[in-house]
Amino acid sequence: MTPNDRPSDTPQAAGEDAARPDRGPGNFIDERVADDLRAGRHGGRLVTRFPPEPNGFLHIGHAKSICLNFGLAERHGGVCNLRFDDTNPEAEEARYVDAIRRDVRWLGFDWGEREHFASDYFEQLYAWAVALVRAGRAYVDSQRPEAIREGRGDFHRPGVESPYRDRPVEESLALLEQMRRGALDPGEAVLRAKIDMRSTDLKLRDPLMYRIRKAAHHRTGTAWSIYPMYDFAHGLSDAIEGVTHSLCTLEFQNHRPLYEWFIDAVGPAHRPEQIEFARLNLSYTVLSKRKLQRLVDGGYVEGWDDPRLPTLAGLRRRGYTPEAIRAFCDRIGVSKRDGVVDVTLLEHAIREDLNDRSPRAMAVLRPLRLVIDNYPDGEVEHFEVPNHPTEPAFGVREVPFSRVLYVERDDFMEDAPKNWWRLAPGREVRLRGACLVRCTEVVKDAAGEVVELRCTWDPASRGGMPADGRKVRGTLHWVSAAHAIPAEVRLYDRLFDVPNPSATEDDRDEPRAEAAARDDAFLTHLNQASLEVLEGCRLEPSLGDAPVGHRVQFERLGYFCRDEASSSGGQAVWNRTIALKDSWGKQAER
Ligand code: ATP
Ligand code: MG
Repeated sequence: MTPNDRPSDTPQAAGEDAARPDRGPGNFIDERVADDLRAGRHGGRLVTRFPPEPNGFLHIGHAKSICLNFGLAERHGGVCNLRFDDTNPEAEEARYVDAIRRDVRWLGFDWGEREHFASDYFEQLYAWAVALVRAGRAYVDSQRPEAIREGRGDFHRPGVESPYRDRPVEESLALLEQMRRGALDPGEAVLRAKIDMRSTDLKLRDPLMYRIRKAAHHRTGTAWSIYPMYDFAHGLSDAIEGVTHSLCTLEFQNHRPLYEWFIDAVGPAHRPEQIEFARLNLSYTVLSKRKLQRLVDGGYVEGWDDPRLPTLAGLRRRGYTPEAIRAFCDRIGVSKRDGVVDVTLLEHAIREDLNDRSPRAMAVLRPLRLVIDNYPDGEVEHFEVPNHPTEPAFGVREVPFSRVLYVERDDFMEDAPKNWWRLAPGREVRLRGACLVRCTEVVKDAAGEVVELRCTWDPASRGGMPADGRKVRGTLHWVSAAHAIPAEVRLYDRLFDVPNPSATEDDRDEPRAEAAARDDAFLTHLNQASLEVLEGCRLEPSLGDAPVGHRVQFERLGYFCRDEASSSGGQAVWNRTIALKDSWGKQAER
């Protein structure tokens, strides 16, 4: 038996169901809640909770659960609690509590005073456990863990009753007290519910309620030497808080009989109901805290907030908006069958949101010098450029222009085909918002690499339109070399190069060390090109004082966000949130 007894994931079927979900508001849980409220069940109240275990950062899958729980409360006049499900001291830390609070708030939800910790209920849970022992419905089992595991049987073999099952109540009570005080060592005894070793439901074969753990807890310190198991603690914590609808993911469905058994046996004043929904699985990433932890601990990413991770902290650094994440959660809906959501749906949500809200600016990521021979040396003029192509409310800005510019290296080709509309020897292009230039000469270094383009400009094309109406198809972004701000830009790609890197199943509550040793297979699917750091980029000067977190579209390149970090050379760092178009889609078409 594993020291933690939470369930394993159900297989992640590639789901056609994900394509036709029951939409956000109006999903099956909404309907059930509305029904319950109409019928006056639970005294006409609605209380939900979001119950993270503080053993890692929240990810986009948690966002689905947060939007569901808080959204139901908002739509139906209920309340939603934030409950830290902290019953497993080894993995839990106060810094995760802080990170979770910040992320839920960032996503746009407010739990007010309703912040709870399962550890606040340790005394009450213990009192209930004692009452169950007194009632003859629980006992201390002094068998070794292997014997307990063996005795549980499996789908084909019935369980075998423990020789300690019918020990006197007083003896169990005394042992439980010793367990609590720390007089016994881990593995010497456990508290089990006395249910039915012959049940076809393996979960009902005298499940564990408490195990001995000699680890300091982030809140209760060393006050306890025993910690309650998930199935015992979770439903009763719901009951204590008056939770009416306890929503959890599908892999808990087969825990429901046990959830109900504990509620029935203890008989708390309030009776919560468990309802299951499909967890979010997203292609090209992993949504398992254990796997995310592995990536962090193994140095495969730079931390829980690495912009390549699907954590909320990572997405925030990457430049995602809470609005886009909430819109995504609405769009995928809530269903009763597992599936894998295509990550392009999330990417679509962020593009849509950023298109509306991002001002435009020009930045050159791989600079190539462009010198305008017929432009006076030392002269500077400013062109007025709109900050958004369709929204006048964004206003305009002045962009400096001079004899020496930078353009994108990719925008030049020496032997260009006919339908190349960008720069090439002899070809004319428009510099966005400025004028037309024609390439007259290509300067190369000793190695034959192009280091500079010599051009002439047409002074009559100021603003970008030629006086004679001649057609110029290509429009390039540019910056003035003397005015541009150097910066480091980080381009991100998918962290994995296969749609389902977690093909092997993740048992979410297997102890992390064991599970990690068993399954590091997902690490072989890491995309080696998931991060590209570009030094020596040049940004237009208006971005010089952009605050951390500022989001902008670099014209023709994508959406970018100013990072909190600086480069080793002290330059600002900008993260690319997302390219303008889906390059993976394009690759697939080719
Ligand atoms: P993990 O497998 O990543 O460790 P977890 O379920 O153990 O996830 P918790 O902190 O216990 O992590 O999760 C808090 C809540 O979020 C639970 O109610 C859980 O069901 C829900 N949740 C976790 N992952 C997802 C997901 N991928 N989609 C939807 N809800 C999720
Ligand atoms: Mg969990």
